Amino acid sequence: MINKVKLENLSYYYKDKKAVDDISLSLHSGKFLTILGPSGCGKTTVLKLIGGYLSPAKGSIFIDGIDITSTGACSRKIGMVFQNYALFPHLTARKNIAFPLEIRRLPKNECIKKVDAISELIGLSQKELERNPSELSGGQQQRVALARALVFEPHLLLLDEPLANLDKELRTKLRSELRRLQKDIKITTIMVTHDHEDALSNSDFIGVMNQGKLMQINDPKIIYDNPHSVFVANFLGETNIIPANLLNISRSAMAHIRPEKIKIENYASECNWQKKGTVTAITFMGADFLIELITNEGAQLKILSRNPPLFSVGSTITMGIDIESVWLIPDTLKDL
Ligand code: ATP
Repeated sequence: MINKVKLENLSYYYKDKKAVDDISLSLHSGKFLTILGPSGCGKTTVLKLIGGYLSPAKGSIFIDGIDITSTGACSRKIGMVFQNYALFPHLTARKNIAFPLEIRRLPKNECIKKVDAISELIGLSQKELERNPSELSGGQQQRVALARALVFEPHLLLLDEPLANLDKELRTKLRSELRRLQKDIKITTIMVTHDHEDALSNSDFIGVMNQGKLMQINDPKIIYDNPHSVFVANFLGETNIIPANLLNISRSAMAHIRPEKIKIENYASECNWQKKGTVTAITFMGADFLIELITNEGAQLKILSRNPPLFSVGSTITMGIDIESVWLIPDTLKDL
């Protein structure tokens, strides 16, 4: 099976600054890849290289097995939603959405049909289509940008932090709508974000970037449970990284265990490894309580518990860990 998208040893410099450093990846048709990483790590630059807005210093880009590295942006049939949406302020939503069809010289009645069809799918009303971007909410502007990226039926959709400018409630709603739409129209999608929740909840695959490099790429569950490095472990959410010997594991490595995998009190007795610890903090997080404790060996651990704790700071409690929940971070293993 030919990959829909394949990047081979892609590198890019802004003057002498290396923004993208030898990135290779491939993605099958219809899949959703999220590139996750901190601000400035090179995510947007990767999207701009794929979209044809920048030319790589080194490496190649293939779509459906064809090398498009030197093909112009307009001929790539790739839809892109930019971080600030980049809507034309003086054009109505309808005219913004029709723009990619007009530059491809589609007959007017075809344009109207296609704009109406994609707007209905995305949830934009006829009234909203007649407004200029400044008369639309952030969520509506995001829909217009998405409709404009999809109206010409691209092979690939690129999304640059599409949810970044929205409040939390709208963000969660549009996140699941985006995923449903992506699955319905089966469009191969690459999204970039710095938000691990967006990445974990939406993607078939996550690629974690740092300082221009792709650190790890895999399905969300594997990246979350089995990170290759301390950086990836930390970037995917709250976690515990402690020397393995503090968990009675005789390897020279850092052990990784997510806070929700550690059990306390009665539940600890179900685990195959138990320890006593002193509670140092209890924080109410809404759905969960974050309990921090320190074991007698000096391991500082964070634990997420659904149940309100029946103990207070300073109490000694039992915590339990199933040894299969512990992952020794490969990049830290010294005695292999
Ligand atoms: P953010 O999440 O903040 O958008 P990013 O991960 O998308 O960041 P890029 O925008 O790809 O990162 O930038 C990668 C690096 O290249 C950063 O250090 C940035 O400062 C630098 N950079 C980006 N655009 C330019 C430019 N036009 N000229 C010079 N340096 C640039």
